[in-house]
Amino acid sequence: MIPLQRVPAPHRTQTLLQRWTTRVQNAGATTTAARAEWKKASAPKRHVKALLESMAHGAVRCMYCDDSRGTDIDHFQPLASAPLRAFVWENHLIACAWCNSNDKRERYPLAPNGTCLLIDPTVDDPADHLILRFTSCLYEGLTSKGRASIDVFGLNRPDLLDGRTRAFTTACLVIEGWHQRHLEGDPSAKEKAHALLESPFVDVVYSLTRLDPDIAETVLEARTLPALEAWRSVCGTTPTP
Ligand SMILES: [Zn+2]
Repeated sequence: MIPLQRVPAPHRTQTLLQRWTTRVQNAGATTTAARAEWKKASAPKRHVKALLESMAHGAVRCMYCDDSRGTDIDHFQPLASAPLRAFVWENHLIACAWCNSNDKRERYPLAPNGTCLLIDPTVDDPADHLILRFTSCLYEGLTSKGRASIDVFGLNRPDLLDGRTRAFTTACLVIEGWHQRHLEGDPSAKEKAHALLESPFVDVVYSLTRLDPDIAETVLEARTLPALEAWRSVCGTTPTP
């Protein structure tokens, strides 16, 4: 997962969403009512999806797994527990069908104090809660929020491990290639960096650029280390091209 910047919803969209919240309210504010209204709400869904697509990384990657295309509007707090948040802009994220329908579904774990135990990439910096171990490409939870997010979003499912492993190899090669061009003053270095930052599994690049120098020495090849150092100083540690 990478941090994402939520764009403000235009006034017209906010008004539309508010109107549909009133409909849920008038229909009894139940989960059944929220589901029924959401099913009918083609205009709000069109507005919300366009906004989410503008916020998503690369070619509209899923905001949870960073791999597949984000196709579904996910209610971060599910309608089962928050029917009145069905049409709240801040409760919408875009997810791939797998993350939305197979892993997360209606799950919304809470801490004993009632706070949500899931990482919202538009609110939290995932790096505060998760660390990607490059020896295994498994995510490890640094906090209870991180551990619950791994479980609920299925962040360590086998297909993601395979994809991250390949993405790690590719990222190291691209960063080395970028470094060479950068040293030569080749303007195509910028395009190489942009291509990497727009690719799926950008969470791997994000984690690489934030890797502790002591750990970097143990998991990266010697020639990747100076390239990564140069990448950090030129491209920074954010996943935005
Ligand atoms: Zn996904």
